[in-house]
Amino acid sequence: MSAPEIPVALLAKEVPIEVPSASSVPAPSPGLIQRMLESNPYFTAGFGLMGLGVALATGRQLLTRGSTFMYRQMLVDLEIPSKDKSYLWFLDWMARESVALQNPIPSGSGIKSRILRLRNLYTSSHHLSVQTTYKQHDNGSVSTNFSLVPGPGKHILRYNGAYIQVNRERSSRLMDLTSGTPFETITLTTLYRDREVFRELLHEANSMAVRLQEGKTVIYTSWGPEWRPFGQPRRKRSLESVILDEGVGERILNDVKDFLHSGSWYYDRGIPYRRGYLLFGPPGSGKSSFIQALAGELDYNICILNLSEQNLTDDRLNHLMNHIPERSILLLEDIDAAFNKREQTDDSGYKLSGVTFSGLLNALDGVASSEERLIFMTTNHPELLDPALIRPGRVDVRELIDNATAYQIKRMFLRFYEGSEDECERFIAAVKDLNVPISTAQLQGLFVYNKAAPERAIEMVPLLKS
Ligand code: ADP
Repeated sequence: MSAPEIPVALLAKEVPIEVPSASSVPAPSPGLIQRMLESNPYFTAGFGLMGLGVALATGRQLLTRGSTFMYRQMLVDLEIPSKDKSYLWFLDWMARESVALQNPIPSGSGIKSRILRLRNLYTSSHHLSVQTTYKQHDNGSVSTNFSLVPGPGKHILRYNGAYIQVNRERSSRLMDLTSGTPFETITLTTLYRDREVFRELLHEANSMAVRLQEGKTVIYTSWGPEWRPFGQPRRKRSLESVILDEGVGERILNDVKDFLHSGSWYYDRGIPYRRGYLLFGPPGSGKSSFIQALAGELDYNICILNLSEQNLTDDRLNHLMNHIPERSILLLEDIDAAFNKREQTDDSGYKLSGVTFSGLLNALDGVASSEERLIFMTTNHPELLDPALIRPGRVDVRELIDNATAYQIKRMFLRFYEGSEDECERFIAAVKDLNVPISTAQLQGLFVYNKAAPERAIEMVPLLKS
């Protein structure tokens, strides 16, 4: 079969195309585009808008740059992260100032400028948060104080004639996993020329913190991986108020003092400069009270670590033990309690709640610091302690703090009932007749109950048996 014939007319025919040369294209007359744009309303409106847009954008950019420039030139920021010590000082300072604001201020000279200053505090605070403080009175009672401090957000305060913006920011993403609290930052902003107020303010906050601690013992507890003051600093307890058996208190005090004076002896021999003390004996015999009084005597603070704490791990324990605030005694209270809960684990021997026994030993051995380390442990059950824990090097001094002896009873009685020598003899005889161990805490309870009534105290001795 042959292909159908295509009509000749349909076959493509090469048609010469005439390409105009550049020189042959007539150039648009110079006024043509202008005329076109001018005559076209859309073009004119578009260009106008574009011009306006560009001008606005440039203006805005200039404004932003200008304000940033001005900000840098005229304002100054101070950032206080929550990890810094001055963070708590600053919050305390603010809390105190707000308390002063709420309480009647005594009239008198010198305070006036302060009132004026305080009146200006928190002028723009609509968002407050509460900070609760406890105050322990001499009689042992505790009163609670709520102070309102600026919460997260921006606040303005006036200090020494300068306006300061306080921006308290809470990080929504960064979290202190160990303590479960969000990281916070306080940013203070003021005029560049007033920048000195930052120094003054921090100095005041710092000296307020120091003043609060004067003549007091700060108790620190672990807060995540760091040490934080627990409640308000306590009034120093005098050593004379803790009555231990003859010579015991003096022996420990002399040993501690001797240790504190022997720094170069330890360094020269390359021995870790630390000393461990174990106070053991029945409850209520004055172990904790003595450590508190000792800290007061040495002008030291106390870091209490509870080994039974659930979320305490070996790493945290190690970190805490190596980052003890200066001039502090480390106190591991009721160390047997942690051991009572021990379970056998495969690799590390005993497992405390969260902390392994080997982790504890490592932490104790690894406590290395340029500063001296005083470690006190207390227990009611020394028999439960693993010998590895109380070997020399970990525990250098062991002292039994026992139930009241005749010596202690006499001293305690005469401390409460001064000059009642006869009654004291009869009291001692009555306790002896009872023939049961009596703790010093029990004696204290009896004397407090029969304040200024030694005869009644003697009558009530049989009640100590129950
Ligand atoms: P422990 O730590 O041995 O269990 P504490 O030190 O906690 O005993 O004492 C409990 C209470 O009894 C405290 O209020 C303390 O003042 C009082 N107390 C106990 N022993 C003595 C003591 N030897 N001298 C003075 N007070 C004591």
